Amino acid sequence: MFVHLLFFQVPLKPGRSLMDWIRLTKSGKDLTGLKGRLIEVTEDELAKHNTKEDCWICIRGFVYNVTPYMEYHPGGEDELMKAAGTDGTDLFDQVHRWVNYESMLKECLVGRMAVKPVAAPKGMVPEKKVLSASVKDLTPSYDWFQTESLITVVIYTKQKDMNAELVIVDCQDKRLRGEVVVGDQSYLVNVDLDNAVQEDMAVNITEKVGKVEIILKKKDNVHWEKLGQPLESHNTFIKRTDRGLFYRKCKLVSKTEVTHDTKLFCLTLPKSTHLRVPAGQHVYLKQIIAGTEVVKPYTPVLPFLPLDFKEPSHHDGGHIYLMIKIYSHGLFTQALDHLQIGDYISVSSPEGNFKKSQVQSLEDLFLLAAGTGFTPMVKLLDFALAQVSSLRRVKLIFFNKTEDDILWRDQLEQLALKDERFEVQFVLSQPTKDWVGKEGKISSSLLSEFVKRSRKDSKVLICICGPTPFTEQGVQYLKDLGYSQEEIHAFTA
Ligand code: FAD
Ligand code: NAD
Repeated sequence: MFVHLLFFQVPLKPGRSLMDWIRLTKSGKDLTGLKGRLIEVTEDELAKHNTKEDCWICIRGFVYNVTPYMEYHPGGEDELMKAAGTDGTDLFDQVHRWVNYESMLKECLVGRMAVKPVAAPKGMVPEKKVLSASVKDLTPSYDWFQTESLITVVIYTKQKDMNAELVIVDCQDKRLRGEVVVGDQSYLVNVDLDNAVQEDMAVNITEKVGKVEIILKKKDNVHWEKLGQPLESHNTFIKRTDRGLFYRKCKLVSKTEVTHDTKLFCLTLPKSTHLRVPAGQHVYLKQIIAGTEVVKPYTPVLPFLPLDFKEPSHHDGGHIYLMIKIYSHGLFTQALDHLQIGDYISVSSPEGNFKKSQVQSLEDLFLLAAGTGFTPMVKLLDFALAQVSSLRRVKLIFFNKTEDDILWRDQLEQLALKDERFEVQFVLSQPTKDWVGKEGKISSSLLSEFVKRSRKDSKVLICICGPTPFTEQGVQYLKDLGYSQEEIHAFTA
């Protein structure tokens, strides 16, 4: 709710950017009207503050006076007013749970919600969460054992098709966090280890039986009495989107030019992290800018476009590559561009609603990308060409302003020469007079010519990504051309 929303963004007045907001929060102005006091807020009190001129909202038990923030909210005042005087937690989670509102709104904090005494009706036993036998059987579980030098934590996922992309492990400062994604759910092992371990660890996955082993090396060869103390949400199996985002610090190891304004950033994951970003998913980067935590999504790519798909490609899992356009007035990208090699930045676990199963058994894959909307297409192209045996054709139509803006043009042209299933077309919205290719922006006529099935009733998927108006118009044109909802995937936050 408190961010640059993709589908609800409204133009902000001049002087109302995120940076302007950060400046205001640092000005020492009393933004709550309570002169720095924190109060306990009852539901009745909260409900009274429900106008644009006096608007309080509760998020996760904390109440904020968002009146001064109204004009700075990229989603617009009306969006914010939907939660005026009420608990906005669900609304917030639905829209952008990754935004660090605690940091953004810390000067607007009014206080905590008063705890309501819950009067249990006499004779009523509190409701117990008893899982039915079948549900219980499907819930992952864990165990651990040790040798003289090793600690092995085993997670039994009870899922057949486990793979490295579904397992995220971090072990930092004696804290072990192992998350396993099972459908839309996530299972978590989260413990403060009994003793210190070495930095490197191994993760073994037995895909067929769904067993995940996390192998840690003891720092001292002593006998451990227990694995450790449980930390928050240890041994829980809940909806993935109900877990807070987890960040680890990654080191910037290189920064190379892709075009005049776009760079490829290579980050290394800590040795004690196991994380793979699946095709079609993004991560969040977090930086402290002028004392405020700012979070933005980015879609990892590969170091280059592979040209040979005879063997499934094995990408090194220790690095994350990000292709990022630096905007001259961009808050986050300017700060990113100022990072030096060797500096650290916080990177979240992957998220996104694209599923690889959408590509399985496809015959035609059409990719519509504009500007850095090309980024999700990189891993998707690689995955589809390498692993989808039914695939006959992949066509990329790539919209840019000028020739100089085209990302990885040489690599795309080489791939088109090398692999007869792949075709690329560039369309420029601000071409010079020497440009002989296609011109203009996304249009129905362009698409009707481009997205033609290779045979009647062929199984097709059309992926689209770029600036919001581009994506919205594209989806509408595709629907008008008769493509169904299932045949279209729009990448959004
Ligand atoms: P802001 O401070 O938000 O904007 C400042 C100014 O920069 C604007 O006034 C405008 O002039 C210009 N500007 C900013 N954003 C845009 C824009 N989108 N279009 C045109 N002008 C703009 N970006 C990448 O470069 N690579 C990625 O891999 C990538 N992946 C993304 C994945 C998702 C799911 C989403 C939702 C976005 C992704 N983005 C990606 C965009 C990224 O999250 C930021 O929005 C972008 O980097 C701008 O951030 P900023 O803070 O620098 O700009
Ligand atoms: P850009 O300004 O360079 O524009 C590239 C092309 O997009 C233009 O040549 C034009 O053909 C088209 N375009 C731009 N504005 C349009 C409009 N109003 N209507 C129709 N077509 C339009 O693009 P950029 O600066 O590289 O921005 C890329 C966008 O992609 C950003 O908004 C970014 O947030 C988004 N993005 C989203 C994801 C995701 O959601 N997963 C991933 C990466 C990038």
